Amino acid sequence: MAGRKDDCIFCKIANGDIPTNSVYQDDNFNVFLDAAPASKGHVLIVPKVHYDNAYSMDDEFAAKVFPLATKVANAVKKAFNADGVNVVQNNEEAAGQTVFHFHMHVIPRYKDDDVNVTWKQHELTGDEQTEIADAIKKEL
Ligand code: 5GP
Ligand code: ZN
Repeated sequence: MAGRKDDCIFCKIANGDIPTNSVYQDDNFNVFLDAAPASKGHVLIVPKVHYDNAYSMDDEFAAKVFPLATKVANAVKKAFNADGVNVVQNNEEAAGQTVFHFHMHVIPRYKDDDVNVTWKQHELTGDEQTEIADAIKKEL
């Protein structure tokens, strides 16, 4: 069972020790404005209990995350008449995680904004694709 971690900033927020601009909360989650937003309306969906990242989340809790992400994505889109929304989530430092308590970013997007959620695309041969797919399948 997940709990709280003393040295974790998002656990402190869940405990009420650090204030936020909250937009929603229920038994399991807080949703609040990102302190350094990528765009107007950027919010974070944060479990009230501590999971380091998505790897450690049990199925029952994970199943609650996306319905809320859908609700929040619709809300920020409507609130600011956004042209799009990114729902993104980073796991470990190499993937851009800086707060090691699971959270989902909901980032409204506006035509010609300066948000950058992109990657360089690479080409693979058919054999390379097969090899990569097989390696993943073995782990599932
Ligand atoms: P990550 O890089 O881990 O995916 O995202 C962490 C996010 O948390 C960043 O966008 C950062 O601005 C936000 N953040 C970090 N500390 C605080 C805080 O104390 N309050 C709020 N509201 N956001 C925070
Ligand atoms: Zn935590």
